[in-house]
Amino acid sequence: MSSIIQLLPDHVANQIAAGEVVQRPASVVKELLENAVDAKATDIKLIIKDAGKSLVQVIDNGVGMTVTDARLCFERHATSKIRQAEDLFSLATKGFRGEALASIAAIAHMEMKTKQEQDELGTHIVIEGSKFVSQEVAVLPKGTSFAVKNLFFNIPARRNFLKSDTVEFRHVMDEFQRVALAHPNIHFSFYHNGSELYNLPAAGYRQRIVGIMSGKTNEKLVPVNEDTEIINVQGFVCKPEFAKKNRGEQFFFVNDRFIKSGYLHHAVMAAYDGLLKDGSQPSYFLYLQVPPNTIDINIHPTKTEIKFDDEQALYAILRASIKHSLGQFNVAPVLDFDRDSNLDTPYHYKDVEAEVPTIQVDGTFNPFTDDKTNQHYTKAGSGSSSGYSSGSSSSSNSSSSYSGYSKRVEPTVSWESLYVGLDTENAESIESSPFTFENEEVTSSLFNDDEVEQAAQKTYQIHKKYIVSPIKSGMIIVDQQRAHQRILYEQFLLNMTVNQASSQKLLFPLDLFYSSAEMKLIEELKPSLETTGFIFEEAKTDHIVISGIPVNITESEVSIVIEQLLSDLQDGIPASSYSQNDTIAKSMAKSLAVKTGSYLTEKEQDNLVNGLFACKDPNISPFQKPTFITMRVEDIDKKFAL
Ligand code: ADP
Ligand code: MG
Repeated sequence: MSSIIQLLPDHVANQIAAGEVVQRPASVVKELLENAVDAKATDIKLIIKDAGKSLVQVIDNGVGMTVTDARLCFERHATSKIRQAEDLFSLATKGFRGEALASIAAIAHMEMKTKQEQDELGTHIVIEGSKFVSQEVAVLPKGTSFAVKNLFFNIPARRNFLKSDTVEFRHVMDEFQRVALAHPNIHFSFYHNGSELYNLPAAGYRQRIVGIMSGKTNEKLVPVNEDTEIINVQGFVCKPEFAKKNRGEQFFFVNDRFIKSGYLHHAVMAAYDGLLKDGSQPSYFLYLQVPPNTIDINIHPTKTEIKFDDEQALYAILRASIKHSLGQFNVAPVLDFDRDSNLDTPYHYKDVEAEVPTIQVDGTFNPFTDDKTNQHYTKAGSGSSSGYSSGSSSSSNSSSSYSGYSKRVEPTVSWESLYVGLDTENAESIESSPFTFENEEVTSSLFNDDEVEQAAQKTYQIHKKYIVSPIKSGMIIVDQQRAHQRILYEQFLLNMTVNQASSQKLLFPLDLFYSSAEMKLIEELKPSLETTGFIFEEAKTDHIVISGIPVNITESEVSIVIEQLLSDLQDGIPASSYSQNDTIAKSMAKSLAVKTGSYLTEKEQDNLVNGLFACKDPNISPFQKPTFITMRVEDIDKKFAL
């Protein structure tokens, strides 16, 4: 029988290898930029079209290639960077596998021009799907230019697998930023579809970081400097008060190479211990230099993970040096960690002290005997004017609620009476929920109209989290945050779909600075944001000017809203305008809704409950969580029968 094993033809092997090296346009950007850096260029231009899908071009002024090398560089395992295995332990270049160009050439149309300084003429090569189409002598400047067109032209499945331009662009942007941040001494420029996104002159770390992120970054940075035997740490961390909701601006570079390390990230977070609001993320730009032989560089070419010899020591040094910097720059004492979260909401009573409700106990009282209800209630109330305060510090509020109560004639059992006869301990246990309220059905069908009407008559806030209100059949417990999200969500969505949002003009327009990646997202979102009531002045390259905002938000909330939005849209903007509006409305509802932990006045509680039941879909938050539950009197009776 004849043998069946054959060596794969080179172009097939290259296509297979390409699958590992080139996943998307951003992979090409990374490889070409790194080659230019390795070629000792001092000026590198990145030009892309259609998020890199139709063109990725990198032009450098580096050492260039000889005629022979120009041809050889497209061969697999053709590299000038290592000669023997030992070289791997003293690696000073980005590439070393000699695979990138062979891989890219296998799956794209590629054109290369290169010339060395001492040569009169350069080489111009065209190669398509691993096949050399032409090679000519050409008059060229010193350096190399690679143009990669029609990525995956011969692998339709891969091409179809690419994401939207927005998503692919974001990946390209990430790669560009990583390389540009790692090499501030190189002049980088970046063009997309003919417009210049970055032009970053050679500079130091600080200027480069500010150049990439935005003008406002400068004042947020605290320098970090530490030099030890095993590691040199340089760079910047962000003052804690500027921590963000997302992890967008966190960079480690090890020996000028961007890396990801959960372990080192943990070290940074440990240095910030106690300085950050829950869940917020500090930006950091940390440059680590370690002896090349103490890291494992035998890593996959497209991976950004790395292995260190002495991770624990690095952890300790990193944590200590950042802690030191944060302390030295006196960052900690100026912070107000107990900042009232009401500042973040449209409800304004940051000066109002929330009181724990006190409870009057009347052991003889039977809440289910109608004719006695008012009497006992009044008695309890008159016994101590603050004794049955609904948590409001205003005594006029409490008294008006009493008179409101005494006027009530329906022989209904109100939720207030539930508390009478309970001692404080038990009252608290209601709030911590041993009653397993979750068992209750979530449905508005339990209400008829006058029940909802009645829900507005009296409300009570517990644990700055729930609004309790009596209804005919028992009581409802409303989750204040989710309810408010629902109300805002429907408002925004309505405004956006009927395009009738009203704006409030700002006396002084707001200037907000963003990175160019963020600016690009904002640019795309602008039409939708305008339908919510935002008015934008002309956009600049690194900031937006807002002259009008939706009526239901305050000026101080604008940046919070936009930051949340950018964070929610990190994975790309939905294609259809419907889902784009939906995402924006959800995101804005999320950032603007009154939070758990916010104290609400009676009026606000009322508005919230009324607003919720005026919604089209009051049962559920925009994030598909129940907004309220009901407890029927029978359920309560059962609890007492135990
Ligand atoms: P690697 O970078 O791993 O060596 P590549 O396939 O990326 O492999 O590149 C192959 C070789 O081509 C490099 O080793 C280098 O000698 C040469 N080369 C690639 N890009 C450039 C460039 N921009 N300038 C000069 N030489 C380059
Ligand atoms: Mg390379």
